[in-house]
Amino acid sequence: MSHLRAGAISHISTALRAWRTRSTGRFARGVPPYGGDVELVLADNADLDRHDTGRGHPEHPGRLPAALAGIDAADLRDAVVRVEPRRATVDELSRAHKPELIRALKEFCEAGGGALDADTSAVAGSWDTALLAAGATLAAVDALENGMGDVAFVGVRPPGHHATSDRPMGFCLMNNIAVAAAALAERGERVLVLDWDVHHGNGTQDIFWDDPRVLYVSTHQSPLYPGSGHVTETGGPDAPGLTVNVPLPPGAGGDTFRSAFDEVIAPVVDSFVPTWVLVSAGFDAHRDDPLANLRLTSADFADLALRARSYAPRSGRLVLVLEGGYDADALCSSVGASLSALLGESYRPEEQSSGGPGSEAVAEARRMHVRD
Ligand SMILES: [Zn+2]
Repeated sequence: MSHLRAGAISHISTALRAWRTRSTGRFARGVPPYGGDVELVLADNADLDRHDTGRGHPEHPGRLPAALAGIDAADLRDAVVRVEPRRATVDELSRAHKPELIRALKEFCEAGGGALDADTSAVAGSWDTALLAAGATLAAVDALENGMGDVAFVGVRPPGHHATSDRPMGFCLMNNIAVAAAALAERGERVLVLDWDVHHGNGTQDIFWDDPRVLYVSTHQSPLYPGSGHVTETGGPDAPGLTVNVPLPPGAGGDTFRSAFDEVIAPVVDSFVPTWVLVSAGFDAHRDDPLANLRLTSADFADLALRARSYAPRSGRLVLVLEGGYDADALCSSVGASLSALLGESYRPEEQSSGGPGSEAVAEARRMHVRD
């Protein structure tokens, strides 16, 4: 904890392509994207949150009410289709994590918990909360698959993208988005995991490093915790080029992110042709976040959300899963602006940011992944 207070964690086919080209144009004019009313599937574990990280910890239970308040702030309540979270099963978790880790973590929590590393801790209630976090993500995917909505937001804690196949770390116990991506991959889907959290999702990268069914793309601040996510990390022998890292320097803002998405991520996604898009939606790249030094505003996150939507093959194939975000107001405004944009509305409490460094980093990632 002293570590944290010191700020040391400053943490498929031509037809589909044609569809995306058409739909991108439609999105760009700001018309509701899927025809008629757009419905937002919401799955969260706020009411059942018993994951106490201790006094002063940035990843605290107050984060979920702040994130969910964004839905009300953006006046989206009428569009919400609420889905009850369920508990992920051991078999479901096992698609992303080693059975020994699952067993050990369950027993650790049941014995009262404690510190897992300098930043990550658990109490007795943490295991059930973690099962609900992963299960809510699975429930959101199932709800979209059953036609219950057009996009989904999963508001859960603990976050997940740092958890590797065999190790909890960086505030994360189970890797919620990886559990959902692995379930989809097992059903034959091609999954894009797009991670715009300010920290590199080392856990997700680790789990899908050599898996050709999943494209993992991360924008993150570098240097910053956990230290991985170099541009040269591009995937294992069975999945070459399917890990894409765009590390950005402190101070980078909206323009840099928009060019990273348009110059690097969009062409890679066009080649991969995902059938599902899952977003590790952390909001700690916001300029007000206490753990990092990027300069995004809520309006920038809305722009990124629209780009994520343009990567999905059709309505009902986009899920945003909450990861980090440690300033309550920034979390509220960024969730609100992102979901508002996805629903064809225009709640943008802040202006876009512009300028700042990072164009060289984007150019380097483009040289690594995009053939001109
Ligand atoms: Zn983060």
